[in-house]
Amino acid sequence: MNAKSLPTATHQMGHDVGGLDVAAIRQDFPLLTTPFHGKPMVYLDSAVSGQIPQIVIERMDHYQRFEHTNVHRGVSTLSQEATDRFEEAREKVRGFLNAASTKEIIWTRGTTEAINLVAQTWGRTNIHPGDEILLSAMEHHANIVPWQMLAAEKGATIRVLPMNDAGELLLEDLDALLTPRTKFLGLIQVSNVLGTINPVKEIIAKAHAKGVCVLVDGAQSVPHLAVDVQDLDADFFVFSGHKLSGPTGIGVLYGKKALLEKMPPWQGGGSMILAVSWEKTTYIGLPGKFEAGTPAITQAIGLGAAIDYLQGIGLERIAAYEQQLLTYATAQLSKIEGLRIIGTAHEKASVISFVLDSIHPHDVGSILDHEGIVVRAGHHCAQPVMQRMGVPATTRASFAYYNTKEDVDALVAGILKVKEIFG
Ligand code: PLP
Repeated sequence: MNAKSLPTATHQMGHDVGGLDVAAIRQDFPLLTTPFHGKPMVYLDSAVSGQIPQIVIERMDHYQRFEHTNVHRGVSTLSQEATDRFEEAREKVRGFLNAASTKEIIWTRGTTEAINLVAQTWGRTNIHPGDEILLSAMEHHANIVPWQMLAAEKGATIRVLPMNDAGELLLEDLDALLTPRTKFLGLIQVSNVLGTINPVKEIIAKAHAKGVCVLVDGAQSVPHLAVDVQDLDADFFVFSGHKLSGPTGIGVLYGKKALLEKMPPWQGGGSMILAVSWEKTTYIGLPGKFEAGTPAITQAIGLGAAIDYLQGIGLERIAAYEQQLLTYATAQLSKIEGLRIIGTAHEKASVISFVLDSIHPHDVGSILDHEGIVVRAGHHCAQPVMQRMGVPATTRASFAYYNTKEDVDALVAGILKVKEIFG
């Protein structure tokens, strides 16, 4: 280990606003403290990607400057120490999800890759002609398309658990949709468009009662809620590092050990084999069996540092603070004439999609952009949600623990300006 010391957290708790010292937290984020279009940066697009604190950036920088080589190869001290750092990050993810073992934590490029891995290994083995795959009406394309591809290959059918106009799943329809042919349920925990927090524990229990395997898409839940995969009893749980104040290029597949052990490997190559000959290849056990090739080492270490950072603030405090922001933002936006919030579920995370008069969301997003306000406009990789809600697109403001009431006020002022421009 090089003598240069590791970065340590600089952020301190102090003048709390609703349980968090957000002013101090904001100082940890270079991007949030840099003007944008000459105005203070108002970043309301954390559902697309969370901002990265300095300490996470420095941790990755430190690894690349002083610790970098390949992992799980060679006997050099450098390689052994890089492997230790990489595996420590896996242990951090295990603790973060409360998984029973690090063997259940598989590194992937992100949520999308994790779902494709499950579809192409568990799915190809367990889905047969005539089987049914049940998906909720509010899935992201990442939890639709891999299953459509599998269904087409296998002669299986996709069925959909519907939702109401508020964006809440119709649980009363669940029993009828879990038929003897249902083999799999794909379920988003928090909707990236509507903000709905789904009662996944209850749904998983119902699915398990009928022998149905459940994958939970946690891409939008892990930034907002403390997740315990054992308590949920999820068979698979997936998320991406970049939505969690970590880097892009890294994500996680959690799977129950008993399921992962039975699944065939996905990609073949170095690192996942025990022995290779022209006649026969044997594979190593978990988690390496699913990690062919050189992994995203820097990014895994960065994700570990992001988890440390969030746990240092406290996931419950983050959740409580974001709920206050959501309540404030919902109240302020609701006062704007012609603004309609899409997604009004009782249980919501801090994501607000809306339409404004007949102004196209792209125009709303562009004008807000010039005001220094970053939001997302479009279908949010969830076209079936748009179809269900009867809108072509929405503007989406998503709030994180580093946002403030002033950010909400800036958004409101920006929207009023949009209205003024469009008369
Ligand atoms: N699932 C949900 C709910 C998402 O919000 C996203 C990203 O927007 C994804 C899946 C895909 O994540 P990634 O692009 O990191 O694989």
